[in-house]
Formats: sequence, C-alpha cells, structure tokens
Amino acid sequence: MPSIFTHAAAALALGTAFRAPSPPARFWVAGALCAVVPDLDAFALRWVPYDHVLGHRGITHSIAFAAVCAAAVVAAAFRSWPGGPAVPLAYLWIATASHGLLDMFTDGGGGVALLAPFTDERLFFPWRPILVSPMSASRFFTERGARVFASELRWVWLPCAVLVVACIAVRRRRQR
Ligand SMILES: [Zn+2]
Repeated sequence: MPSIFTHAAAALALGTAFRAPSPPARFWVAGALCAVVPDLDAFALRWVPYDHVLGHRGITHSIAFAAVCAAAVVAAAFRSWPGGPAVPLAYLWIATASHGLLDMFTDGGGGVALLAPFTDERLFFPWRPILVSPMSASRFFTERGARVFASELRWVWLPCAVLVVACIAVRRRRQR
C-alpha cells in the first residue's frame, strides 16, 4: 500500500473536482476516511490468508466494496446534501476505489482483488513505480520508510497537486 497519509491525500485532491461551493468539513473527512478504510483488512491477516478474498488487498479493495462503502456513508451523513446525494456518492465511491487503484501501482505485496466478488483474481497495473509501504507504522519511520514516502511524493502527491491546481483554475475561469 501507499501510506495511509497518501491514500487520504489522494482522496482530498479528488474532492476538489467534486466539491460544491463551501462544502462542510464532513465532506473532506468522509473522503479521507473512505480512502483509508480498505486497509482495515490488514487486521484480519492474523486469521485469514493474504490471498483469500477476505485477506489483505481482497474484497475491501474492490470497486464493488467502494460502492457499498460510499452508499453507507451517504445514507448515514449525506442524505440532505444540497442538490441530492449523487455528488457525495460519486465522490466517496471514487475516493474509496482510489485506494485499490493506487495499490495496483505499488511494487510489492500481493495484487488487488479489484473486481471481487465477481472474480478473486489479484491484479496489478503493468507499470508499478510506487514503492510499497511497510505494513507497520514503526517501520514507516525508517530509512526504507523515507524512500517510500519520497516515491509517494513523486508519483501520487505531485500529480494530486497538479489536479488540485487544475480544478481550482477551471472553477475560477467558470466563475468569471
Ligand atoms: Zn491497501
């Protein structure tokens, strides 16, 4: 996985493409949390094999899980969203799904069950420039962790910054 900070940052950047004017804090908090939730499956590794559909990078990293997760969060917190729940639903779906997609760019770990429950096949993109992050927080603050974060800055944070600047520029242009 990229680190949880990077998954959350990617979700926040994606939010700039979706947000209505002056979104409440819960829009951003929900996006960041949804992007991190898939890695809760790491806690199941004690009982479930890594490559099981309930194992790490299994069904919680799928597009289908992202849809269910987004729908649940919208039902709990965004039903009265101005203009209807479609915008937060689309944003939270993409924010959650971005997790599995980013994991598919990493150079280690197992593949991602992106299409579960329809197939358990573990997938990677053919191009995997992001160094895989250590699973334990203590190992993240090491020399290896620093190299991982540098690779995340280059391959995730930098494109996210470009996306944010582009979305803000487009919005300002439309307002004129
Ligand atoms: Zn993950």
